[in-house]
Amino acid sequence: MTARSDILEQLVHMSRQLGDPARDFVLLHEGNTSASIDDTTLLVKASGRQLCDIEAGGFVEVRTGDVLAMLEAGELTDEQIRDALAAARVDPSAALRPSVETVLHAVLLRLEGIGFVAHTHPSDVNAILCAKNAREAVSGRLFPDEVVVCGPAPAFVEYVDPGLPLARAVRGAVDAYVAEWRELPKVILMQNHGMIAMAATGAEVEAVTAMCAKTAKILRGTYAFGGPSYLSDESVSRIHTRPDEAYRRRALTE
Ligand SMILES: [Zn+2]
Repeated sequence: MTARSDILEQLVHMSRQLGDPARDFVLLHEGNTSASIDDTTLLVKASGRQLCDIEAGGFVEVRTGDVLAMLEAGELTDEQIRDALAAARVDPSAALRPSVETVLHAVLLRLEGIGFVAHTHPSDVNAILCAKNAREAVSGRLFPDEVVVCGPAPAFVEYVDPGLPLARAVRGAVDAYVAEWRELPKVILMQNHGMIAMAATGAEVEAVTAMCAKTAKILRGTYAFGGPSYLSDESVSRIHTRPDEAYRRRALTE
């Protein structure tokens, strides 16, 4: 098992990389990141912190089970959510409050093989997710490296309120994705909101986010030339399952 200090170091590095203003993935206090420490706790960005200059002290450790229990608690008011998140902190005397999207992170970090999660709002991705034809636009894959890094398809979540409703919708979208693809998604696209990347390592989450943002830029470009020409299902599944592509995936993301 990776030591807590190593996980925190990766989390800080990943968060700063994703928060770099030049990359245009987040602005100001947008976005949040997290990592699993073990089966019982996770680290998540504190409310009000910026990703671009975050330090180890900008993350809060919370008990995963306490956070996940909120999913089954019915409808909670904003105040009840805030109190429940504060009560889930491992150190209740800490001045920091966990991000309001902590439940969403807990849902994803309990999945097999997922160690790191990043939720961002890249402008290129949101240009598509805020469009009338968003779902249709992201219905196919465009080029081999997109498949290698981001998987055969994204999971898609229709717009719901951020917070508990969104966490529940994301849980449902992941379950539906697994039923269809027999594996976890690398990318979850949230209509009129943003994206989530999840993977075993911070480096892979970074690579998935960057490739998703690049794909979105290319996808936008295709509409100037007649619209996207998607790869066939056969091509996507061939690239996705080829052993040399699995090797490239590791090389690109480790
Ligand atoms: Zn967001």
